[in-house]
Amino acid sequence: MVDDCLFCKIISGSIPSDMIYQDDQIVVFKDINPKAEVHLLVVPKEHFESLNEMQPQHDAVMAHSLRMLPVLAKQQGLDTGFRTIINTGKGGGQVVFHLHIHLLGGSSLAGF
Ligand code: 5GP
Ligand code: ZN
Repeated sequence: MVDDCLFCKIISGSIPSDMIYQDDQIVVFKDINPKAEVHLLVVPKEHFESLNEMQPQHDAVMAHSLRMLPVLAKQQGLDTGFRTIINTGKGGGQVVFHLHIHLLGGSSLAGF
């Protein structure tokens, strides 16, 4: 838990979110400014800033997060597929420096 981190505050419940799943390792909530019909954020409970700070101790939670993506996509009705994005650093478009995976999908998703 990092005091000035928005996603740590969402994880602790001190800032509300539209939470759709959580377990001992991750939380999943709706993005407040969705870029697609479905736009979820898959967030490790343990704070680390980005892929640049990922350590071997984070391997398990990252593997778990990846394995949850198709499960979550299916729950959201994304039967034809989905997109995942991990922004890393300012140059990669990251604005919240607590690692998260964007899960996007829906009929309006354009090619990349
Ligand atoms: P980044 O650009 O860091 O990869 O993505 C951060 C994402 O967090 C953005 O898509 C933004 O809309 C979302 N976001 C920012 N503040 C909040 C918030 O308070 N609640 C939720 N649910 N999402 C947020
Ligand atoms: Zn955090």
